[in-house]
Amino acid sequence: MLNFEFKNPTKILFGKDQIAALAKEVPAQSKVLLLYGGGSIKKNGVYDQVKKALQQHQLLEFGGIEPNPEYKTLMKAVQLIKQEGIDFLLAVGGGSVIDGTKFISAAAVYPGDNSWDILARGIRTEKGMPFGSVLTLPATGSEMNSGAVINRSEIQEKRTMGGPGLFPVFSILDPQVVQSLPARQIQNGITDAFTHVLEQYLTYPIGALLQDRFAESILQTLVEVGPKVQKDPSDYTAAANFMWCCTMALNGLIQKGVPTDWATHMIAHELTALYGIDHARTLAIIAPNLYRYTFEDKKEKLAQYGERVWNITQGTLEEKAEAAIQKTVDFFHTLEIKTRLSDYTDAYEQTADIVYQRFEERGWKGLGERKKIGPDAARRIVELSY
Ligand code: NAP
Ligand code: FE
Repeated sequence: MLNFEFKNPTKILFGKDQIAALAKEVPAQSKVLLLYGGGSIKKNGVYDQVKKALQQHQLLEFGGIEPNPEYKTLMKAVQLIKQEGIDFLLAVGGGSVIDGTKFISAAAVYPGDNSWDILARGIRTEKGMPFGSVLTLPATGSEMNSGAVINRSEIQEKRTMGGPGLFPVFSILDPQVVQSLPARQIQNGITDAFTHVLEQYLTYPIGALLQDRFAESILQTLVEVGPKVQKDPSDYTAAANFMWCCTMALNGLIQKGVPTDWATHMIAHELTALYGIDHARTLAIIAPNLYRYTFEDKKEKLAQYGERVWNITQGTLEEKAEAAIQKTVDFFHTLEIKTRLSDYTDAYEQTADIVYQRFEERGWKGLGERKKIGPDAARRIVELSY
């Protein structure tokens, strides 16, 4: 096992009707900005619950944060915060609203002239403006981690950011929100969480037995409850397990003491930046082909994954590893997630070269657990995914 430090300061309030707890969790004397997306919270009752809980608080609102949150929109919120003297942020939404709020939290206190530098130059935030979240879409884990992904469509860039100052102070997870999710978002949520686990698990053996089993248990639980939530989003037990899996998949725990990959995400972000494909779907396009491309490096863990998660007992190590990749693709298909780039865009043939160019420009020469994924590898992986 590798050495590690682990600290996750986010308080989780999980379960039915926990949104009412906002009344005590949001600091009483603060001036609060409620941030939300395109309006789903006004249709499913979450907005009303939040307003009711915060009726004693001084509250302003900023809506309209897009899926794949836009830099330009978020900068308007930063301006509002400065004008109004806001000192606490409350994100109510999915990964996009929470990620957007993290950027706003960082930019509101950033001393430099150009907040885009936080993303373009990878400036870590040691202390942001404090914020909490009410999660409405289990998927990203953003509710209990300190990372964010921000889009800037005018230059077709989607970039990551983070830092220890960007954990939510608290996050409220009421699984009843799953009821109002469209099928597409449930499919995305399962796929994103599943891939988050794979990014931290499918590397090479390092003797971290407990982390492996944490990872496998999240994967097994997603395989078990995924079809149930899809079939009936009002199945509370299935929704609760789905939600907690998504949070646990990316709150730092399973990545401690192990090598992590994340190259699937970094390549996949380019597909969202270029074509606006949903985040989870870009992962389903890239992950299987990244495993094919890096097969020699990953085959031991792939075979272990095949045995323990998919009950593949027959064959050589290589055969088990190959079967495990196929099982993963089949699983995405059962979620009605298409796994080829050409399923999403007609312009697919130019993509590998563009991704190569972007990796070159950014100097990304050594992504992945063995630091081998550079421009050439990214190009080849994208080609395999056409
Ligand atoms: P999302 O982009 O936050 O939301 C997708 C859609 O779902 C929106 O249209 C939203 O509508 C709707 N929605 C949310 N909750 C709903 C509900 N309860 N009922 C009905 N509709 C609802 O989706 P996401 O998958 O959670 O987030 C994706 C983003 O997170 C991507 O940008 C991705 O790159 C990023 N991400 C971040 C991390 C991280 O660790 N920080 C990890 C992986 C991915 P409204 O806008 O109207 O609310
Ligand atoms: Fe993700």
